[in-house]
Amino acid sequence: MNTYYLNINQQDNSGYNYEVHKELCRYCFPYRSNFIKLGSFVYESNAILKAKNSFPYMASKIDGCKHCCHSINND
Ligand SMILES: [Zn+2]
Repeated sequence: MNTYYLNINQQDNSGYNYEVHKELCRYCFPYRSNFIKLGSFVYESNAILKAKNSFPYMASKIDGCKHCCHSINND
């Protein structure tokens, strides 16, 4: 299981997405207010589903981090 966070600040590059990160990713900063804890999941696909359900107005722009969430990264 990994703990996942969603960065609710839109990326300024890489498709202008909101990215899902694992807690230990070097691009994840859980202490910052723009990183929202999604919870612990076995699969990356469950984490991104939780993110999309929690923030439906952002869902089409939510993507996985290309560094820590390869299986759910599209951009
Ligand atoms: Zn990451």
